[in-house]
Amino acid sequence: MTKSQIIHDLKSALDGHQFQLYYQPKVHLASGHITGVEALIRWHHPTRGLIAPAEFIPIAEATDLIVPIGEWVLRHACTQSVAWRDAGLPPTIMAVNLAVRQLYQPRFVESVEGILRETGMDPTQLELEITEDMMMDVPRILPILKSLTHLGVRISLDDFGIGYSSLLNFKELPIDVIKIDRAFVNNCVVDRKDAAIVRTIIALAHELQVEVVAEGIESKDQLIFLQQHLCDRGQGYLFSKPVPPKDLVSTFGQIEEIIHREGIPPELSH
Ligand code: C2E
Ligand code: MG
Ligand code: MG
Ligand code: MG
Repeated sequence: MTKSQIIHDLKSALDGHQFQLYYQPKVHLASGHITGVEALIRWHHPTRGLIAPAEFIPIAEATDLIVPIGEWVLRHACTQSVAWRDAGLPPTIMAVNLAVRQLYQPRFVESVEGILRETGMDPTQLELEITEDMMMDVPRILPILKSLTHLGVRISLDDFGIGYSSLLNFKELPIDVIKIDRAFVNNCVVDRKDAAIVRTIIALAHELQVEVVAEGIESKDQLIFLQQHLCDRGQGYLFSKPVPPKDLVSTFGQIEEIIHREGIPPELSH
């Protein structure tokens, strides 16, 4: 599909109910408990089938289309979270990815506040994932993040380590969670340098009293490495791929079993 076809088709995708959110569990690595989920958008194109976000999110981000799509994602994720709560599921933190253009739209904080109010979502159960490219302009982002934090929402720094932000910018901003990029987690058991980077990010996070999440855990060896180095939480195909909402609950029990079978069991971990 060409870029202009994607732009053209994206314009009718919201009205055509072609988007869906999948959810990937975030796991407390010491216990195997699910502490949250990340919402990840999927586009069911009427003629081309499932289209991955990597194919259309950057294009939506380059146009204003990301604004209504991002709003839909946030409203939908909050609605789902409240529905799970009302159905008696244990409370889990709902993480939603943000795009730069979305965050910098004039009434962004008000729109988040409105969605929280409309859906009845507890702000402390919402985590917004930002990326390093958004942190380049500290004077611009700081008041926005402060207002979000003031609402009770948590801020998570996605894909940490592959962007251009400096530790100085990081220090200035109210970040609650760091997510170690998959690129480092991938090789942490086979590459000495990746191992050193992962250990150092975990130590940095803990020194700064920020929670640390590893993304893209695919193997038992990676899990054990991360448990040994006291990484707080993790997500990845080893536990579960992103799944449609109806399949999420069945992953819960399975994940504790995976931690017991593949990792350091809770009774032996620190
Ligand atoms: P991300 O936020 O870093 O999300 C993690 C991506 O890694 C997801 O890809 C997820 O399916 C994938 N992943 C998770 N575990 C593993 C693993 O063990 N191995 C491998 N190889 N991959 C794993 P997905 O769903 O295709 O999303 C790609 C990116 O698209 C996201 O990266 C995020 O930047 C963006 N995105 C997705 N949904 C949204 C959204 O609603 N809004 C915005 N602004 N961006 C979104
Ligand atoms: Mg993310
Ligand atoms: Mg990520
Ligand atoms: Mg990523």
